[in-house]
Amino acid sequence: MKFAIKTLGCKVNQSESDVIASSLSESLLHQVGFEEKADIYIINTCAVTREAERKSRQFVNRALRANPNALVLVTGCYSRKVHLEGCTFCRNGKVILLPSVEKETEVFDYLKTKLNLEVKSNKVPGTNRSRVWIKVEDGCEHFCSYCIVPHLRGKVKSREICEIVSEVKILEQRGAREIVLSGINLGYYGKERGENLLKLIEAILQNTQSVRIRLSSLEPFTINKEFLKKYFSLEERACPHLHLPLQSGSNEILKKMKRGYSKEFFEELVYSARALNPLVGITTDVIVGFPGETEEQFMETLSFCEKVSFSRMHIFPFSPRPHTEAMKLEEQQGIPAKIKREREKALRAIAERSREKFYQSLVGQTVDVLIENRNQKTGKGYSENYVPVQCENIREEQVGKIVKVKLVKSQGEWMKGTPLQS
Ligand code: SF4
Repeated sequence: MKFAIKTLGCKVNQSESDVIASSLSESLLHQVGFEEKADIYIINTCAVTREAERKSRQFVNRALRANPNALVLVTGCYSRKVHLEGCTFCRNGKVILLPSVEKETEVFDYLKTKLNLEVKSNKVPGTNRSRVWIKVEDGCEHFCSYCIVPHLRGKVKSREICEIVSEVKILEQRGAREIVLSGINLGYYGKERGENLLKLIEAILQNTQSVRIRLSSLEPFTINKEFLKKYFSLEERACPHLHLPLQSGSNEILKKMKRGYSKEFFEELVYSARALNPLVGITTDVIVGFPGETEEQFMETLSFCEKVSFSRMHIFPFSPRPHTEAMKLEEQQGIPAKIKREREKALRAIAERSREKFYQSLVGQTVDVLIENRNQKTGKGYSENYVPVQCENIREEQVGKIVKVKLVKSQGEWMKGTPLQS
């Protein structure tokens, strides 16, 4: 029997899909590409924006086109949202909504009950990638005014340190060189049982030899200067890269978003991190066109981003989500799509300038690049501070390994480098 899986949205979804795929493969199902004919299609959906929902529906249709007789299992946030709204897109029993937050268990239970398939749940993603995302935390209790996720994912649930450590050890033995710790609100890791993220990272570093650790995204309100001091004093396998979602550079908008910090606090975090490690890569997310965002408030965001200067920015036009406070604000103070597009464009120009400034500061530096693929002797991968690097004269056996690279110049989104090892 063949199965195909499609993942939309965040890295947490990706790591959950990896676990589902490896468990099904171990249970002797054969994985094929999503465009191929399969007996079972699993779509791990996202509902964070309207666009993500549209794509989720699109993949359901694609699966049915590829094989009209297939069983299509729809799991993830969009499935949960549809379920909570009491709707269904079940077509003649072929499309099944699996809305539970325990998605892996629900998929396996369904296959067991309906198809009599015994699936051995395998917690470790079966991937042989050199960079692996693992989910260590789920859920969020913060309720930012624009975000649907806490309504869909529920309370914070963290995995136990010992379970995560043994998973990382297995992945290291299989050849993983970078582990990306991911969560819906990663900074809340362990809060429900008196653990914390630093303890987890320390335990992983103590029990492994070569993998480096990257943090996927940290909400600014979950960390402080003390956290940064401790993080940057860990051994160098803890990557000097922080993804801190800013969302707005206006204190009034941050308050309306219920983010729980001011731009001054955010700025202090960034400057503290840079004082602790001048090569740190700081990336962010920003939402433009939040309901009621005035031209002045947007200009504040522009100048704040220019001043702080991120190495990479993800810019999103505000997307109203049901069940959220901002949905109500949108009805009264929504920003026209055209203005959102103009603001996005203006901020993108700042993002490119900031990235170029960061890249120029790195020319001549030596970094550790995890080579993830190679084409005609050019290897590609990310440095420890999350710079995408293209590197010439990479040998086949260096793929999947960390290579010391001297950065020589920037070229658009990439930096070019030459390997130091022969
Ligand atoms: S911290 Fe805010 S943006 Fe992040 S998941 Fe929680 S509510 Fe959503």
